[in-house]
This record gives sequence, C-alpha cells and structure tokens, in this order.
Amino acid sequence: MNSKYILPDKNLTLTITEELLDKMYLSVKAHYPNEFGGLLIGFYNDDNKNLVITDILLPNVFTSTPVFFERQAEDLQKDLQDFYSSAPSKFYVGEWHSHPNGGTMPSSRDIKAMMYIQDDGNVAVEKPILGILSYNNKTENYKIQFHLIINNKIYTYEKN
Ligand SMILES: [Zn+2]
Repeated sequence: MNSKYILPDKNLTLTITEELLDKMYLSVKAHYPNEFGGLLIGFYNDDNKNLVITDILLPNVFTSTPVFFERQAEDLQKDLQDFYSSAPSKFYVGEWHSHPNGGTMPSSRDIKAMMYIQDDGNVAVEKPILGILSYNNKTENYKIQFHLIINNKIYTYEKN
C-alpha cells in the first residue's frame, strides 16, 4: 500500500509504502524520548517529477537528545553503495528524523543542516528532501511530513 504526497508549487510528487512508514515509526518509538532518524533511499521517475522512496538506512553512529539528532557523515557510505547497483538504481534522496512530542516542521537548525548538505556537492540529487516524523508518546500517534528546502524557503509536500 502506497502513501502519496504532492507538492503543487513545484509540480512534484512523492511515493512511499506504508510498510516503510511503519518501519520508521517503530525505530522512532524505540529511541523515544530521544530523536532518531537516518537516510532516505529511492529514485526519481516520471521525468524526475516523482520521487519513490524505497528504503531507509538507520545509522550506527549518531548523537541524539530529545531535541537533537545528528548522524556521522561517514557512517553508511558502504551501505549506500550497495543500492547503486540495484535495478532501478537507487541512491540517497534525503534525510529524516523524529521530533518526539513535537511538530513536523523543520527547526532553524534543520534548515541549516539541509542547506549545508545541498552545498556540500557530494550528494547525487540536487535537492535532498527532509522527512520529519512527529511522535506523541501518550497517544502513540505519529505524523510524517516531507519538506524541500530551497534558498531557506520550506516547501512541504501534502498528503494526497
Ligand atoms: Zn528537527
């Protein structure tokens, strides 16, 4: 079962399976009350208009608190390479992390981190996306939103 998101402003769409969303949710829940996250893996189709997120990678080395998450850049490089040879070829398409008992919008620190990744030039995609999963431990509800950050402006994909 696929979840679809749209970004009408940029004529972009995004697809992710419910199964993958559940996997993210479970890893977030397991790391509560700290933030947790990782990499988003996938590919673009439909003239680079549709992003299909197929996998996530969870870091082995990371620092996290209830309001902070940072993974080590070198970690997961080997795991990433294994995706290049798959058919279709999959690659790094963005980052994701949780906001325990918080909202789904990026913090100013999140925006800076994404700008830094874009400027780094080491990533295959021009505009990596940022997924933020808010998790409420009382209700155990979660919500995820995906964002594209261009020139300090946040564009948020809407659930279709
Ligand atoms: Zn954040």
